[in-house]
Amino acid sequence: MKKARVGESKRRIVLARARGACEYCRSPVRYSVQSFSVEHVLPAAKGGASSLENLALACQGCNGHKYTKTSGRDPLTGKTVPLFHPRRQRWRDHFVWSDDFLIVIGRTPIGRATVQALHLNREGLVNLRGLLYPCGEHPPADFDGEE
Ligand SMILES: [Zn+2]
Repeated sequence: MKKARVGESKRRIVLARARGACEYCRSPVRYSVQSFSVEHVLPAAKGGASSLENLALACQGCNGHKYTKTSGRDPLTGKTVPLFHPRRQRWRDHFVWSDDFLIVIGRTPIGRATVQALHLNREGLVNLRGLLYPCGEHPPADFDGEE
């Protein structure tokens, strides 16, 4: 499988647009021990272009779990639905934080399927949210994820 390259100027735009947070789990780049990826929302292996409308910032965990997936199973209905698309959809329309801000809860079929497929409540993420919250570094400021 040929790996699509994303140029440095596009990487910078994607990073700024995402305001330094994974566009799926919303974890901040500056508190991550691993570098983030500029990922193809529609995977390059499935014909996704390296255009800004198809690129998103993802932490290594989300990127690894997403891999070439474009759909997932809604655990509530059992139906297969598309995964969250950070360019075409708003995070807050599909996800909400738990009352203690530790857990991402899917509020739509797309949200629930994405929480499950990308494992948005991985142990390390939940622990990080718990540490960042008292410092005022979590949850991240709301954003549309749109231009
Ligand atoms: Zn992530």
